[in-house]
Amino acid sequence: MARINYKICPRCNYITQDDVPGRFCIQCGEKLLKQCKQCRTAISNPFALHCPECGNTYHHQIAHVPTEPAGAGLPASFRALAK
Ligand SMILES: [Zn+2]
Ligand SMILES: [Zn+2]
Repeated sequence: MARINYKICPRCNYITQDDVPGRFCIQCGEKLLKQCKQCRTAISNPFALHCPECGNTYHHQIAHVPTEPAGAGLPASFRALAK
């Protein structure tokens, strides 16, 4: 039985078989991941979220854009008006 490896999208979790042509996610355009970025173990489980060999996550950390605290970043002229 041939061993099937998978490609997963690190952004939207899209999964496809490694022998399917294409290097980029058809849903979001992110480059598909064929192996662990850390130890280079091929992805053999389509449901894996972490590498079974080293535990590294396959997915990008979701970067939350920090929201400006209220009142910070007001222009100087506006602050002068508020006096
Ligand atoms: Zn994607
Ligand atoms: Zn790994």
